[in-house]
Amino acid sequence: MTSKRNLSRPSDWNRRRRAVPKRDIAVCYLCRLPGATEVDHVTAVADGGGWEYANLRSAHRACHADKTLRERASRGRRTNQSGLVSSLVVVDGQEGCVSVSTLPTSKSPY
Ligand SMILES: [Zn+2]
Repeated sequence: MTSKRNLSRPSDWNRRRRAVPKRDIAVCYLCRLPGATEVDHVTAVADGGGWEYANLRSAHRACHADKTLRERASRGRRTNQSGLVSSLVVVDGQEGCVSVSTLPTSKSPY
């Protein structure tokens, strides 16, 4: 009976929450900028991460939220992130054989 995952916060969590930004001099480990105010799990608790200092890093609120969203998304069913452009390309009014590989891969300009 040692497989039980510790999902709850340790009793000294408040102390750790203050100690981690101090240790990291409030530098966000996600964007490398100072001013981090939150403590994040490098490996999310839901993914088996623990509450030990080695798994705790300072992060901005926004960076933290963004990472949490991405973790949730990657945990979900859909993993299609190919970003392939499949729209019809019309150049100068002519529907031609336009090489898709020359299209920019950035986001849609619309
Ligand atoms: Zn950040």
